Amino acid sequence: MEDRFGHRISYLRVSITDRCNERCTYCMPQELQEWLPRHDILTFEETIRLIRIAGELGVTKIRLTGGEPLTRRDVIQLFRQLPRLTNLRDIGLSTNGTLLTREVEPGLTMAAAVRACGFNSVNISLDTLDREEYARVTGRDLLPDALAGIDAAIAAGFPQVKINCVLMRGHNQEALVPLVDFAAERNLLLRFIELMPVSTTEVLAESNFFPVAEAKRTIEAKFGSLLPQPEFRTNGPASYYQIPGRAQRIGFIGAMTNLHFCESCNKLRLTCDGKLRPCLGSYLEFDIMKPLRAGASDEELRQFFLDVVERKPEQHDFRTTYQPGRKMVAIGG
Ligand code: SAM
Ligand code: SF4
Repeated sequence: MEDRFGHRISYLRVSITDRCNERCTYCMPQELQEWLPRHDILTFEETIRLIRIAGELGVTKIRLTGGEPLTRRDVIQLFRQLPRLTNLRDIGLSTNGTLLTREVEPGLTMAAAVRACGFNSVNISLDTLDREEYARVTGRDLLPDALAGIDAAIAAGFPQVKINCVLMRGHNQEALVPLVDFAAERNLLLRFIELMPVSTTEVLAESNFFPVAEAKRTIEAKFGSLLPQPEFRTNGPASYYQIPGRAQRIGFIGAMTNLHFCESCNKLRLTCDGKLRPCLGSYLEFDIMKPLRAGASDEELRQFFLDVVERKPEQHDFRTTYQPGRKMVAIGG
């Protein structure tokens, strides 16, 4: 699938729930904390069918996300079906990590069960190592659970475990250097992400915004000039750098300040309530659940995907007109 601007679509992010056991301020604003009714959420069969069709159209990589995907009941039964689908070579999970130690069956952690389903990467959110700050940002005192989840992911043997840290001025500037050391000790790929306006405007006030360039300077003040790694890519928009004197790489995702951010976009998103979104930072979304539930054929659904790709914008609207209309937790970050 290719859009009007030459973006080749090979990556589908699939949100499987809008529910979460945390309440991150930047993702789930206070006033939007009502869950969607169960009937409005794609069933496992519907989700698998849409992923299969995307695979037939050239999607090779998917990432399961949410909300917190591991809160979905019997989620492993969904995950088990994924490796059988055509073309999928790369299956990843985005999680806050707090449920990775939960036992799916006696002796089998969620992390090990996910790995056994053929997932090759897991991205875990961790904005700070300070327990009080973690509780303030996520609304839950679950730092020990998140850290245990990271250990469980390492023990499960995923080829790639990434840590994602959302930058927020006044919340985690002091956390950056400790996070770099934490990632180095565990051989994890750490990425810093700019806050995007997908929550209430008040959370996204200019005073909270902390650009990647400043984060980079904060880290350089401790470690020296970071060495650009333009050849190193992970199928996403992060720019990677090496820490001087270490084998460690860290990434920066400058969704707001990097003006070339959208050029290499290869993504499409499927929300848990059956909307296809050609871009996270655009209002455009198309209801594929409607034709799906009205009995559309595979061919009709394939055409639906192609039409959505055709409407993919050249770049996101975050810097201009965007005002949050839908919380991140429902779109799938
Ligand atoms: N619950 C899982 C987690 O926290 O990783 C998966 C879903 S979460 C929506 C996916 C990613 O989106 C997380 O790394 C989270 O930090 C990021 N995210 C959420 N809201 C964001 C925002 N307003 N700006 C930037 N990143 C955001
Ligand atoms: Fe939940 Fe993840 Fe959103 Fe935090 S970022 S509220 S953990 S979905």
